[in-house]
Amino acid sequence: MNQNLFDTFATRMEDRGTANFITTPEGKIYSYADALGITERIAGALKQLGVKPGDRVAVQVDKSPEAILLYLATLRVGGVYLPLNTGYTADEIGYFLGDAEPALFVCQPAALEAAKAVAAETGCPCVETLGTNADGSLMDVAANAEPFKGIEARSDDDLAAILYTSGTTGRSKGAMLTHRNLRSNGMSLVEAWRFTENDRLIHALPIFHTHGLFVACNVILLAGGSMYFMSKFDVDTIIAAMPEGTSLMGVPTFYTRLLQDDRLTPELTANMRLFTSGSAPLTAETHQQFEQRTGHAILERYGMTETNMNTSNPYEGDRIAGTVGMPLPGVEVRITNSETGDHQPLPQGEIGMLEVRGPNVFKGYWRMPEKTKAELLDDGFFVTGDLALVDERGYVQIVGRDKDLVISGGFNVYPKEVEQVIDAMPEVMESAVIGVPHPDFGEGVTAIVVLLPGEKLEEAGVIKALAGHLAKFKQPKRVFFVEALPRNTMGKVQKKQLRDQYRDIYQ
Ligand code: ATP
Ligand code: MG
Repeated sequence: MNQNLFDTFATRMEDRGTANFITTPEGKIYSYADALGITERIAGALKQLGVKPGDRVAVQVDKSPEAILLYLATLRVGGVYLPLNTGYTADEIGYFLGDAEPALFVCQPAALEAAKAVAAETGCPCVETLGTNADGSLMDVAANAEPFKGIEARSDDDLAAILYTSGTTGRSKGAMLTHRNLRSNGMSLVEAWRFTENDRLIHALPIFHTHGLFVACNVILLAGGSMYFMSKFDVDTIIAAMPEGTSLMGVPTFYTRLLQDDRLTPELTANMRLFTSGSAPLTAETHQQFEQRTGHAILERYGMTETNMNTSNPYEGDRIAGTVGMPLPGVEVRITNSETGDHQPLPQGEIGMLEVRGPNVFKGYWRMPEKTKAELLDDGFFVTGDLALVDERGYVQIVGRDKDLVISGGFNVYPKEVEQVIDAMPEVMESAVIGVPHPDFGEGVTAIVVLLPGEKLEEAGVIKALAGHLAKFKQPKRVFFVEALPRNTMGKVQKKQLRDQYRDIYQ
């Protein structure tokens, strides 16, 4: 049997025939049959350009339906899909091309000259372009190449994709994902979130990251539903799509931005059956406000590039704000002592390192055997780097990243606990708490605060207000006010950047 993930998709796609797969705000419509036909032609182009099973196809293009069809065509020819963040500069791309050694690099038409130079430096043999209007040199090759209607044989353990992590804690690492990883997780999510042919997903996420690419597109392909495919998040377009949509997958900033709009009402969202959130923590406050405004409880889930999705709040049953729910079927989680690193489970309810095991967990980091050995244990558990606890009902609560833990005067300070107290102040919109080198304490607890529009607060005022709520060692030694927290495209707060910026304040 061919275990190529595309084989599973193709069966579903043939079934769905003329049913709608993708529509765009500009009015383009792709049926499943259209999509299958285009993947045959792009696959023909990939073959002609010399892409063989196991070869990497690196792609840095703007979001478009053809970009998704390029992903499918890559699977079809047995290639390994390697999407890259559109924000990366030519210099940064050099690292990825040098590391991944793709057989082909597909870039934006406007980036061709720079891409060719980087490809020449890194030994990448072939560069083509893909624009957002079904244009670009790759589509020209596809128009003239012999369509490839076959599906190259792959086994469950072969690589389907290499996705680079977001680089929140350091240099991005290439996570090797197999056909089994992607298929098993996609199927679990279809089940868990009750996706069907009738679903119309509002797709406003980027497609170079696991969330918008695998969680969103694989789920829709496996369910046979359709997607309303927006080039980027835009409140007006989302609001216009909601009366016809059934579901939205978002990062927390989608929800905070929607909440700022008066048009968000129960009537507007009456046809919607599911709002999910992930990639960064959703505050309990946002969860509650969204439910008050729309009647919908956002379903928060937790995953990472290396593991796909691990846990999810239930579709039926309590979606508990501030938790990421329970392990998906087939996924095991354990909490271990992060200080000793002995990987032994801690008593229920204690905070420690979150480790996960299951068919969703990747095969290792591309060309990083040491790192893979340290984080992907012999017993199959992957050390996520996230600190968490499991509550008495079995819901997982992410406390923060191990690397963001502040150790001040020998005591552990969990930033989230301090942030929650600061965020509860009426003048505050949001905050980030970081540890900064301190001559006496090792690290000094430091708060970076964003105020609500028109509000005023002084550093001393914050410190005084926290005194009654937090033990002395958890109280920030310094408080800084900023206009906005630095975030990446997935809405992740860039604490490393903040730590660099405030590095010298206690020296
Ligand atoms: P890098 O590994 O390069 O430092 P990254 O970890 O941000 O970057 P991703 O794989 O995109 O790269 O993100 C996974 C991380 O996102 C998780 O380890 C976790 O810290 C965070 N995350 C994802 N979903 C949630 C969630 N619902 N709540 C809290 N954190 C989440
Ligand atoms: Mg990570």
